[in-house]
Amino acid sequence: MKSPVHRCRDVEHSRGQSGAGTNYLQADQRIPISKDVITSSSASAMWFIKDACGIMCAVITWLLVFYAEFVVLFVMLLPSKNLTYSIVNGTLFNTLTFLALASHLRAMCTDPGAVPKGNATKEYIESLQLKPGQVVYKCPKCCSIKPDRAHHCSVCKRCIRKMDHHCPWVNNCVGENNQKYFVLFTMYIALISLHVLFMVVFHFLNCFEDDWTKCSSFSPPATVILLILLCFEGLLFLIFTSVMFGTQVHSICTDETGIERLKGETGKWGKMPCWEAMQLAFGGPFSLSWCSPFTGVTCKRTPTEHVEVPLGEIIEEDVIEIPLE
Ligand SMILES: [Zn+2]
Ligand SMILES: [Zn+2]
Repeated sequence: MKSPVHRCRDVEHSRGQSGAGTNYLQADQRIPISKDVITSSSASAMWFIKDACGIMCAVITWLLVFYAEFVVLFVMLLPSKNLTYSIVNGTLFNTLTFLALASHLRAMCTDPGAVPKGNATKEYIESLQLKPGQVVYKCPKCCSIKPDRAHHCSVCKRCIRKMDHHCPWVNNCVGENNQKYFVLFTMYIALISLHVLFMVVFHFLNCFEDDWTKCSSFSPPATVILLILLCFEGLLFLIFTSVMFGTQVHSICTDETGIERLKGETGKWGKMPCWEAMQLAFGGPFSLSWCSPFTGVTCKRTPTEHVEVPLGEIIEEDVIEIPLE
């Protein structure tokens, strides 16, 4: 027996076949169903995208962070004669690094808001109890009923609610459920980079004063090469992550995802005020927990009706409209 998804591929899509003689709304009058009606069935399951390129990029990210950790500790802080300087900067740097890596893990292993696969069945659509004039769209690739503002990701092979983009550096889509962790990841990496640049400049100035003799346990040429590489890494990451951080905060504030901006799909939904959208994305009223990758996004409006995915034949149409009475 073929799986529902398999069967879906064999179906000839018969768009607009069923409308003869019935009263339907014009395309711009259609009322899309709310994204809250359709919930993810895998919210609690472990989420990990098996994409070779993404896994490689994620590993490179961690290796670059470890390189910075190595140079900061063994070239700059441990050989330093100023103990207070080493302790203060070491604590700050390691705390930020820990938070950045934790945010990275949460962004990578959190379901970004995937729509259950293969739920485009007649039984499921009936269970939604749609009103006349409402319309549902089926994703022909993953055979799911697409909620409003969901997009299909070809890497994750799923439809993702409020998908912003697929980021290979966190090997995951950035969507409704993990945007907070992605924003925190970019913020902490930008802060680490800035901190590293300050420390490198300070270390160089110190070394010039000491004539390079006592400034590192490595030879002067090795020290210079390690520091210059770290400087490049810091500059590159500072630019990249601060631009990304700004873009993400702007996306949240304007209630508009990167994909929607690209496709020009803006203004099709009632936009949330900036502060309300920020609270929804970060999980509640402003508090320290906004900066913590360990607190979940809890203030999400819990869907009133959680519908289990009923097994059944996948429907053929890509657009299903409930006729007006
Ligand atoms: Zn899809
Ligand atoms: Zn994706």
